[in-house]
Amino acid sequence: MSAALTKAATLLAPVSPTPRLDAELLLAHALGISREALLLGPARPVPPAFEVLIRRRLAHEPVAYITGTRSFWTLDLHVTPDVLIPRPDSETLIETAIAHFGARAPATILDLGTGSGALLLASLDQWPDARGLGIDRSAAALAVARGNAERLGFGNRVRFVQGSWADALAARFDLILCNPPYVEAEATLAPDVADYEPSAALYAGPDGLDDYRRLVPQLRRLLAGNGVAVLEIGATQAAAVSRLAERAGLNAATAQDLAGLDRCVALTAP
Ligand code: GLN
Repeated sequence: MSAALTKAATLLAPVSPTPRLDAELLLAHALGISREALLLGPARPVPPAFEVLIRRRLAHEPVAYITGTRSFWTLDLHVTPDVLIPRPDSETLIETAIAHFGARAPATILDLGTGSGALLLASLDQWPDARGLGIDRSAAALAVARGNAERLGFGNRVRFVQGSWADALAARFDLILCNPPYVEAEATLAPDVADYEPSAALYAGPDGLDDYRRLVPQLRRLLAGNGVAVLEIGATQAAAVSRLAERAGLNAATAQDLAGLDRCVALTAP
């Protein structure tokens, strides 16, 4: 088993920044056990399916789509190619929200472009008395999000509605989360992303700002008093998105991810 893992990691090194981790996750998946059980349990025979999974990864298919799961914050989420794979970078949004509320807790949470439901369900796990609403334009994404909510026990605290940003919303929310598409139309992304993840969740016009232009002006009327809207941004977009927010009558503060890159803006009413 350990020889098979070492060999697989060597094969994957040219296509993945995390070849050993990928190999472990794929072997655990082939065995139908967790990575922890794989690493801590007894040695097991390597099933033939492992090689098939390694071949898929060699063609740049993301591990999360091969295994159908991805960890985010405190949760294990189901993912399909209908949704963006949750990234650790996006946990910066949850940390920023926690920093905003401190000892308080948001009662109502809105997630615009919820995808797998990652941001919304993570924040519902963080604040056990909060209720949430997830919006997405994609019916297929909403099915994934609903499945995650049910499976993780959030079914009675969350609703999912198909819609285009906040166009149909009238209510106010204490916390608004949003990871919109923000990649420049002509940007070259890694094949793992470009060839497999939903382009509608990635690209946002020539400068990557199209969706902020649509959604930032909607936020002020949606924010409850003392509330905050936390938007994910690309590393070079803090100034442009802050300007859009200020034009919409909101204050903007930027926060960095673990790599030290600008990753989100926190918008509040003055
Ligand atoms: N962070 C993603 C990437 O690097 C982009 C996510 C998005 O556009 N919301 O591919």
